[in-house]
Order: sequence, then structure tokens, then C-alpha cells
Amino acid sequence: MVRENLAQVRRHMEEACRRAGRQTDEVTLIAVSKTKPVSMLMEAYEAGARDFGENKVQEILEKRPEIPADARFHMIGHLQRNKVRQVIDQVTLIHSVDSLRLAEQIEHEAAKKELHADILLEVNVAREESKFGFFLEEVENALREISKYPHITVKGLMTIAPYVEDPEENRDIFKKLHQVFIDMKSKNIDNSNMSVLSMGMTGDYQVAIEEGSTMIRVGTGIFGAR
Ligand SMILES: *Cc1c(COP(=O)(O)O)cnc(C)c1O
Repeated sequence: MVRENLAQVRRHMEEACRRAGRQTDEVTLIAVSKTKPVSMLMEAYEAGARDFGENKVQEILEKRPEIPADARFHMIGHLQRNKVRQVIDQVTLIHSVDSLRLAEQIEHEAAKKELHADILLEVNVAREESKFGFFLEEVENALREISKYPHITVKGLMTIAPYVEDPEENRDIFKKLHQVFIDMKSKNIDNSNMSVLSMGMTGDYQVAIEEGSTMIRVGTGIFGAR
């Protein structure tokens, strides 16, 4: 089941890339395995998945030792400041940095552990009250503040688009974030290197790829309903 689902998602990724005139290897698929057992992560691993997305620190700490070491874990959920210390050396990328206080805590813990943290800024493009993240107009200031932190590199931006029936409804959101991504790239702000645009989930990843996504986060489409 997982193998077939993965194959289908990869096919749809390729088609979206072709429509957009992009190379397939420009887009990384993150298998969002939150709530799913290690056995299902292993099915995905055996079918070639190497990037896994989780939204709870505890689940990352439990699952990571059970999966071969070349798998990468991505923190994609809201991260509490008091959990930073536990997760910072367990993940390849934190997608969900949604406040300057969180970035400051990441700097603090990274310095203590003498490591370097790669992060994305989460952007609440649609200004939904229920969601975390910076507003689009706050992104530049946030990047400038974080540029003071020597143990952090901001690799790009992430958004969780609203839940919609028709993915076309989210096209404009993806376009807006892509535009800000390009603008910020051109500003060459210290400690940021705008190379990752994390947008698109099961319902809308094809539209997100057409609008420039470089990382899609797909859960239901690979592992089934949660
Ligand atoms: C759960 C989750 C996903 C995956 O959602 P699906 O609709 O199941 O693909 C992607 N991104 C984030 C941040 C999530 O929490």
C-alpha cells in the first residue's frame, strides 16, 4: 500500500514538474509519518523514502533510532521552546520556526551543543488565526534579526496553506510566498540562503510544485488517513 502510494505521488510530482518546466530533482518529497508506526516508515524507507516529517518531538525521539541512519527527520510542527534542546540534534531541518523567541532559543541551544541549525521560517500567508507563523510583511525583519545568530542558517520559507476542496484556491498563496522567497533571496541577508521553499501537502502539492515549491510534505497521500 505505502509503496504504491509513494509511486503514485512520485508520478504526480513528475507530471507537475513537467507542466512547470522544472526538473524532478528540484523537488524533495517529505513523507509525513506523524502518528504512523515505525513499520510503516520502514515500508516507505524500503521504497526509497529518506525524508520523514514529524510534528512531535517525542515521536522523533522514539522513531529515529528505529530507522536506518541515512534517513533524515524534519520537524514540521509547532515547536515549544522548552523542547528545542531535545530535538535540535535529531533533525536535519526545522520547518516551523514561527517566532523570533523560538529562533533565539535555537541559537542558544545550538551554541551550547556546538552545532549548526538549519531552519525555515513558517509564514502564515493566509493570515489564519488558527495558524502559527510570520505574516509575509514580517519575513524580512525576521531574517535580519536572525542574521545576528551565528549558529543558525535560514534555508528558506515554509507555509501550511488553508484546507480547501479545490487546490486551485491555494495557488495564489503559493505564488505570494514564492515571490517573497525570490525577493529575500535577492537581498542576500547574512546567515540566510534561500534555497528551500517548503509548501504543498496531499491536497495541493501539484499546484505548489507548479508555483515553485522545492519541498512537499505529504502524509495522507502516502500513509493513508490519520
Ligand atoms: C500533517 C502535516 C502535513 C501532511 O498533511 P497531509 O494532508 O496528510 O499530506 C504537512 N505539513 C504539516 C506541517 C503537517 O502538520
